[in-house]
Amino acid sequence: MNGFAPRTAVITGGASGIGFAIAKDLAARGVQVMLADLPGAGLEEASRLLDGAIPQPCDVSDLTQVEALAEAAFEQFGEVHLVLNNAGQGGVHGKMWEVDPAQARAHFDVNFWGVWHGCKAFAPRLIEQDAPSAIYNTGSENSWFCAVRQSAAYIAAKHAVLGLTESLREDLPPHVHAGLIIPGWVFTPLGPEQFMKLGMPVEDYARIVVPQLLARRRFVVSHGYNMVRINERMDELAASYAEYALPPEEDAKYDVQLVMEQLKKAR
Ligand code: NAD
Repeated sequence: MNGFAPRTAVITGGASGIGFAIAKDLAARGVQVMLADLPGAGLEEASRLLDGAIPQPCDVSDLTQVEALAEAAFEQFGEVHLVLNNAGQGGVHGKMWEVDPAQARAHFDVNFWGVWHGCKAFAPRLIEQDAPSAIYNTGSENSWFCAVRQSAAYIAAKHAVLGLTESLREDLPPHVHAGLIIPGWVFTPLGPEQFMKLGMPVEDYARIVVPQLLARRRFVVSHGYNMVRINERMDELAASYAEYALPPEEDAKYDVQLVMEQLKKAR
């Protein structure tokens, strides 16, 4: 995927942590930034600290507000080149069956539906504009394995963000890229300070991530030990396939993509 040089960016959850650190890094490269976040002192303070950043109050769990964000961004910038659906909250903790489903749904409203809303509001507008652009959704190492124990809602929502992003990529034309940001442990106010402070400093994290955004990578990575955990899962998956599944050459007749391609050719 080709790199690009965005001049404008919209970042949800942009008033704090990862969103704000990326906003600062982008602004230092001359990118105009719109910080979208819940209304309040945090958003006001962030836009005061980052010269030229435009604050836009927005609750990402509400599609109407995210549509209004997209409208405001295009009105302000003319063209939007980079969209980061990054807003998120820490999860509800406890053994899966102990978590109140209503709380888990409320969590999904932000950590999953908030991302969906961002994609839904921006994708058609980015497609319409000819300039190259990119949508990045913030997943997590928890999109690939259970890094944080007893966090079923958070982990399920982050896995869902991976699925949503991969599916979106397939639907987009070549000038609009979609990718997944996969933070490992980063020191932000997302969780209790005594735990979060053991994570990577957020400015270091932004420095690793921003070049990958500009390179329009499919996966935006940072924490190398993640691959150890991902491989643990993949090794177990591969062992199950090796022991129980039909070998690929015998199973090709059931591969949905291959069969669909053949049907298309035959038409
Ligand atoms: P953070 O708390 O510093 O930032 C999250 C921001 O999202 C805050 O400014 C918050 O106000 C905003 N937000 C929350 N709910 C919102 C809503 N309904 N509408 C709009 N804004 C809302 O935390 P962070 O660590 O910077 O988190 C950013 C993203 O990175 C999240 O999606 C998080 O899940 C993900 N992430 C973080 C880590 C980590 O270790 N910090 C690891 C993996 C993934």
